[in-house]
Formats: sequence, C-alpha cells, structure tokens
Amino acid sequence: MSPALQPHFDTVLARNPGEVEFHQAVAEVLGSLAPVVERHPEYVDQAIIERICEPERQLIFRVPWVDDQGQMQINRGFRVEFNSALGPYKGGLRFHPSVYLGIVKFLGFEQIFKNSLTGMPIGGGKGGSDFDPRGRSDAEIMRFCQSFMTELYRHLGEHTDVPAGDIGVGGREIGYLFGQYKRITNRYESGVLTGKGIAWGGSLVRTEATGYGTVMFAQSMLGAQGKDLDGRRVTVSGSGNVATYAIAKAQQLGADVVAFSDSSGYVVDEAGVDLALLREVKEVQRGRVADYVEQRPGARLVTSGSIWDVPTEVALPCATQNELDESDAKQLVVNGLLAVAEGANMPATPNAVALMREAGVLFGPGKAANAGGVATSALEMQQNASRDAWSFDYTEDRLQQIMTGIHDTCVATAEEYGAPGDYVLGANIAGFIKVADAMLALGVI
Ligand code: NDP
Repeated sequence: MSPALQPHFDTVLARNPGEVEFHQAVAEVLGSLAPVVERHPEYVDQAIIERICEPERQLIFRVPWVDDQGQMQINRGFRVEFNSALGPYKGGLRFHPSVYLGIVKFLGFEQIFKNSLTGMPIGGGKGGSDFDPRGRSDAEIMRFCQSFMTELYRHLGEHTDVPAGDIGVGGREIGYLFGQYKRITNRYESGVLTGKGIAWGGSLVRTEATGYGTVMFAQSMLGAQGKDLDGRRVTVSGSGNVATYAIAKAQQLGADVVAFSDSSGYVVDEAGVDLALLREVKEVQRGRVADYVEQRPGARLVTSGSIWDVPTEVALPCATQNELDESDAKQLVVNGLLAVAEGANMPATPNAVALMREAGVLFGPGKAANAGGVATSALEMQQNASRDAWSFDYTEDRLQQIMTGIHDTCVATAEEYGAPGDYVLGANIAGFIKVADAMLALGVI
C-alpha cells in the first residue's frame, strides 16, 4: 500500500478490531488507489479516504422470536448504512450464522463502489442477522422476518434505505419483510425493498440478474480477447440464487457447465448440469446437492477437497467470501483456467487473486461482475416510482447494457491509470472516483 494511504489503513485496523473481512475489503480497494491520490491529493486532504472507510451509521439490534416448540429465540440484527453520497443506502440482507459486524461492514463497503459502478443513483449499505434459516419451518421464517422488520422499519424508506436479498434471503423472506413493513407503516411503499414478487411490485429479471450479469461480464472479458463462452467448460460454485442463474445464462451462451456445490460438497456432472433438476431439488424440495446426485445418473458427489480441483476454463465462484484460496488458484491455473468472474462477494482470497492475475487469467472482481443484481434492483425502484412494469426482454436488455457499460468503464479506467487489462484496478478506481467527487461536492458530511 502507498505511504499516502497506509496511515488511513492503520486507522481502519485500529478502529475496527477483529473485523478481518472488513480489513480485507478495505485493503483491496486502498491497494488500487495510489495513482488516484497522486493525481488528486484533495481526496487525502479533504479526508475522503478516512470518511469513506467509516460508515455513516451502524445499527445493531435484538431480534426476539418464538420457534415452533414455543421456545424464545434471540438473534442479533444488523444494518450498516455506509455511504449515501450517490443516493439512498442500497444493499442486501444476509441471514447466516456467520454474520457479525465485520461481515456486514465488508459487504457494505464493497456495495458503495459496486453501486457507483452501475451508474445508478444508489448509495451503499448492507445488513442481516446471525439467524440460520436452514431447517426452519415457513412459520418460523415468517415470525423471524416480522420481528426483524419490527425493529428495522424505522430506519428504512424508499428515499432513505432500500434493502434486498443476499445469502439466506430470497423471495419468500422479502415477502414476509415487506408484509410487516406495510402493516407497521400503513403505506404501500413498493420502493422500500427490492427482490419483491412479480405480482406485488417486483421486477422481471431481478431474480436472474446477479447470475446473468456475472456471465455477461465474463462474456465481455472473453470478447475483448476475441474469445467467447461457446463450448467452454465452466464451473460454478454454490447452488443458490446467483449460482442457479449463472448456470442458466452460461448454458444459454453455449457453455458446458460441469460442476456446482453447496456447503456439504460439490457435484461433477460431465454430461452438463441438468438445471431443471437442480432447481427442483433446491427450490421445491429444499434439498442438498446429494439429492441432485441421487436423481441424476452419471453425476457424482465429492465431499472432500475443493470444487476448484475440477478442470475448467471459466470459473464462476458464486457461493461466499474466501471460498477460493491460493492453492485452489494454483490448481485452476495448472488446469488451464482462462477467466474468473466473481458472482459472490470477495470469494477469492487476496493471494489467490494475485496468483491468477500474475498468471494472465482474466479476473472480473465481484464489485463489477456481480453488480447486475443491484443494478436491476435500481430498475425495480424505477418501475415502482413510475407505477410501471417492464417486459422481460426490455429489462434484460437494460441489464446487458449496464454490464457492458461496467466492463467498458473498467477497461477504460485501467488504461487511463496505466494498467491495461487490470479489471480490479479499473473497478476500484472508477467506483471510488464517482463517490469521492460527490462527497467533495456535498461538503463536510
Ligand atoms: P443463496 O443463499 O441463494 O445461496 C448461497 C449458496 O452458497 C448456497 O448454495 C450455499 O450452500 C452456498 N454457501 C454459503 N455459504 C457457504 C460456505 N461457507 N461454503 C460453501 N458454500 C456456501 O445466496 P446468493 O446466491 O444470493 O448469494 C451468493 C453470493 O452472491 C454471496 O456472496 C452474495 O453476497 C453474493 N451476491 C448476491 C446477490 C444477489 O442478488 N442475491 C447480489 C450480489 C452478490 P448452503 O445452502 O450449503 O449454505
């Protein structure tokens, strides 16, 4: 890190002890900004770096609820409203036992720059809970969501803070959260949450958007090299929302998707993933990857090692943070990896990223590659504001334009700062400058 930025990073470490994922996310962004602060000393002089690393507001609250056995359960809820220079705080809610303040802050910090890159008027925020939805009944999920929203609602609003889904929060949870918000406020304020059902204010393509957008970004990176996805072997980690639609779009573009996973193991299906079966297992049966293998002759389940041991030309990590480490990266490179697009947030560790970039692998960082989800959330907000509902094809075209725009912005910015082909540098710098300039214009905020 440059000497101009190191003191600010040291401050982040001292002010946020133990929040290792947040430290990692800040280091990744500040690591790209040396040429920017050299050209624009005002970003340091006006304390933009210091301010951008400090959330505007951090909320932590108790979420009490009663389980099906009549027992009281207590979880912890979070919302970090990180930066509203460009628009209302925007970013998902994650329900997973690993959630604590450091995870929410890393995700919220990433979200600032991702949202800036989309070109839409949205600030950055993130939230969630250490609640584990796995194995809970529908009624328990509903009671939890109602209790969570009973506290959070006072901080939300279509012009204030607009959550969406993330790990463990899909259409069902957004429904229960929106229902409780509507009931408490007595307002049908559609624009307060995104990822809603199509019948009640949702946008077509929002469900597909993150996975589709990730593959569109991969296709753009390959396209810039005169290549494409057609006929290429692709591996997708995870089997949730992002993974499912990354598989769908990759298959539409002619790729052979041969592996996917969940936290219990990974599946290799050399005949090509049967997406209809995978969706049936995950969305209807609410099963595990082992249930797919039981119903799919020829597919095999692997419960040791890493999904990144599977030889692949394009890797799409779509599960969770730090799921692809240095040894995975080495194996992928040995096996002939061409490109990585991060569907998840920060799935590759810093050493893995460095190794893949040095090996000449095209590397699309999450804040660029997975921005299609939040961009389509902003399109959902536009439709809500104008009481309109766009067609699937029109909305997908908008998503494609946005992803192409983000790709081209990363390429142009990397070139402008003397690092052609460096998507990490391009994404960090382009995302940062827009927010930094807005903060300068808005005064001491
Ligand atoms: P889902 O809950 O729908 O799916 C998550 C998937 O990842 C599941 O298959 C889950 O398996 C797996 N997973 C979670 N934790 C682990 C772990 N520790 N090890 C291995 N597998 C794991 O979440 P999403 O698909 O929505 O989110 C996936 C990633 O994409 C996250 O990083 C999220 O922040 C990011 N993202 C999501 C967006 C969205 O629109 N949904 C937008 C932008 C980024 P299991 O069921 O076994 O836990």
